Amino acid sequence: HSEEEQTEDYLFKIVLIGDSAVGKSNLLARFARDEFYPNSKSTIGVEFQTQKLEINGKEIKAQIWDTAGQERFRAVTSAYYRGAVGALLVYDISRRQTFESVGRWLNELHTHSDMNVVTILVGNKSDLKDAREVTTDEGKTLAEAQGLFFIETSALDSSNVSAAFRTVVEEIYHIIS
Ligand code: GDP
Ligand code: MG
Repeated sequence: HSEEEQTEDYLFKIVLIGDSAVGKSNLLARFARDEFYPNSKSTIGVEFQTQKLEINGKEIKAQIWDTAGQERFRAVTSAYYRGAVGALLVYDISRRQTFESVGRWLNELHTHSDMNVVTILVGNKSDLKDAREVTTDEGKTLAEAQGLFFIETSALDSSNVSAAFRTVVEEIYHIIS
């Protein structure tokens, strides 16, 4: 291997989008720091967090952007989306309204970024079984219709959180390599 190959570096910008309080900041906190905030307000968000992943023996840096609450004012700026190659579009399986917003978020994403941005639809709060308002099949069906990956997660009990981020990073890596 040449020195150039050894120092080869990948940096993928990935954005978190979706309605307020669906768990975007907690998904990032769980993934990057293995933390969870039971009563988080939108203020816990950082601008972005960089997380290293290994794919096929290559080190990939995922730079994951959080809205830090600006989605409450429907004012996620174009700078937020600029240069993004991946997106996690999150809804809350216990609040149907957040699932109904998915189309609007997709429009917003496609207005501000490349059409080819690798997107996964994420049904978060899968731990809230008794409060479920959106079935897994509904999520899957919408994802298929829109050409998105799909996964259900829980930032609370950790289930599928790394898988959600990893799926996006792996797909981006496969596209560019
Ligand atoms: P954001 O506005 O999309 O960033 O949402 P937050 O991450 O701030 O989460 C909003 C609220 O939902 C907080 O009270 C979290 O503790 C809670 N929450 C986030 N993820 C989960 C989850 O997977 N399960 C449950 N039960 N609550 C969650
Ligand atoms: Mg947040």
